[in-house]
Amino acid sequence: MIIYYLQRRAACGSVGTGRRARLRILWQQCRVGSSPIFRRREGPQDFVINVLSFFVYAEDYSPFVRQKEEKMEKIASFTVDHIKLQPGIYVSRKDHIGTETVTTFDLRMTSPNEEPVMNTAEVHTIEHLGATFLRNHPVYKERVLYFGPMGCRTGFYLLLSGDCSSEQIVPLITELFEFIRDFEGEVPGAAAKDCGNYLDMNLTMAKFLAKKYVEQVLYGIQEDRLVYPE
Ligand SMILES: [Zn+2]
Repeated sequence: MIIYYLQRRAACGSVGTGRRARLRILWQQCRVGSSPIFRRREGPQDFVINVLSFFVYAEDYSPFVRQKEEKMEKIASFTVDHIKLQPGIYVSRKDHIGTETVTTFDLRMTSPNEEPVMNTAEVHTIEHLGATFLRNHPVYKERVLYFGPMGCRTGFYLLLSGDCSSEQIVPLITELFEFIRDFEGEVPGAAAKDCGNYLDMNLTMAKFLAKKYVEQVLYGIQEDRLVYPE
C-alpha cells in the first residue's frame, strides 16, 4: 500500500529534479519493465527489486532528505529582477578565494524577456572573438579568468581576478566590443581541430550585436546601467 502511494506520488510529478529524478525514473522503468531496455520475464528477483525500491522511495520522502532539499537557497544571480534588468555592465558577484578576490561581471546585451535573445551562432562567435581579445589584452590578460555566454543567451559573464567595479571596466568592455564590431576575416579557433562545433558561427550577426551594444549601451553609459535594479 505504501509503495503504491509513493509510486502514485512519483507518477503525479512530485519528483525531485536532476540526477536523483532521472535515476528514479530509470529505476521505475527497470522495475515495471516499461522501457524496452529493461523488459524481461517476471522472476523471483522481482521480490528483491520491490523491497529495494521501497527504500529508494522511502528515502526521498523521509524528513531528513526533505530538510536537505529545503536548505538549497536561490543563488544570487536568480535574485536579480530580470523584468527590470536592462542591457548594461553589472557586478554579478565577488568571490573570495584565500586572499584573492574574483569579480564576476554580467555583460548584459539584450533586455531579458523583452527583446529576442541572441542565437547560438552569434553567441559562439562573440565568445571566440571575446576570449581571444581578452586573453591578448596588454593590461588585462593576466587577470582574465573566464569569458563565456549566459545560458539564457542575453549576455556574457566575464570573471576577472581582483576587486573591481563595473565603472572601472567600461573602457575594457568598450574596446572589446569595438574589436568585435570591426572584426574582419577568419574567426579565431573556428576549425574542427580547435572547437567542438566550429560550423556554428555567425560573424555578421556578432558584429551587428556588438555594434548595437557599443552604440546603444556602452557609449555614455550611466549609473542605472552599471548597478543592478533594486
Ligand atoms: Zn567554439
